[in-house]
Amino acid sequence: MPTYHYRCKNCGYDFTKEQSFSDDPITVCPECGQEQVRKVYSAVPIEFKGHGFYRTDGASSSSSSSSSDK
Ligand SMILES: [Zn+2]
Repeated sequence: MPTYHYRCKNCGYDFTKEQSFSDDPITVCPECGQEQVRKVYSAVPIEFKGHGFYRTDGASSSSSSSSSDK
């Protein structure tokens, strides 16, 4: 079951909720009761499968300081 991250725009309450895909998204804040909750799409790495995602491009540093040093 995927975990969704929510945040209330009214009081700033921040929470996560496990929901299935068929569940309705939460809109009402459990903290202040206002309908100000929005889903947060954060940069939390949630199992990105596939290759090339974690590639760091710094393997070949061909442009090391030539002669611009003092
Ligand atoms: Zn709230």
